Amino acid sequence: MDHKMSRSPWVIHYDGSSCNGCDIEVLASLTPLFDAERFGVVNTGNPKHADIFLVTGSVNAQNLPVVRQIYNQMLEPKCVVACGICACSGGVFRDAYNVIGGVDRAIPVDVYAPGCAIRPETVIDAIVEACGILDQKEAVLRAGGDPLTVGGAATWDGGVELGESGFVAAAEAGAGDAPAADGAVAAGGTSDEPAAAKEAE
Ligand code: SF4
Repeated sequence: MDHKMSRSPWVIHYDGSSCNGCDIEVLASLTPLFDAERFGVVNTGNPKHADIFLVTGSVNAQNLPVVRQIYNQMLEPKCVVACGICACSGGVFRDAYNVIGGVDRAIPVDVYAPGCAIRPETVIDAIVEACGILDQKEAVLRAGGDPLTVGGAATWDGGVELGESGFVAAAEAGAGDAPAADGAVAAGGTSDEPAAAKEAE
C-alpha cells in the first residue's frame, strides 16, 4: 500500500450473480476483524452517497440493468471495483448461456480484485487503490475536465447491450444506454486483459 488516503470512502456493495462466497468476504472486510472502518470506510445502501461501487459475481441479462442503474445513480467522482474472479471476467460461469462476462461488460471497472473467493485483505487493498483513482478523478473535475478520461472509463469499449436475439457489443448496437459510452474510448480494458489487474492473491 503506497497510497495516502485523502478521504473516508463510502462504499456500496452489490451482488451480481455470485455464489455468495465473495459477498461474505466483502462483508467480512467491514467487520472488526479486518476492520476496513479504520480507514473510515462506511457501507451505505444509497448509491448517491457512495464513492466506490463494490460488485461481486458475473453479469447476466437480469442484473445488467441493475448494475447500470446503481452506477448511474452514483455521483462523480466514483470508482468501480470488480470483487472476485467472477466479477473480473465471469470466472467459472463465463461460458454459461446467460452470462455476458465480468462487470466491465456492463460498466467501466477501475480496479480488478481477483480471487475465488476474494480475500478481505484484497478488498481493503482494492478500496485503497480506488481511493487513489478517486483523487485523480476529483483533480480532473476540479480542473474542469471529464472524469471519464481517468481510470477504467478511459479505455472502456462500451460493454454489451441486450438485443432481441441476445447480447451484442455496444459498439454494434449503437451504444444504447451504456453509461459513460459518450466519453469512452473504444480499446483495451477487456475482461481478458484487465486494465488495472491486481495480482494480490
Ligand atoms: S469468484 Fe468464486 S467465491 Fe466469488 S462469486 Fe465467483 S465462484 Fe463464488
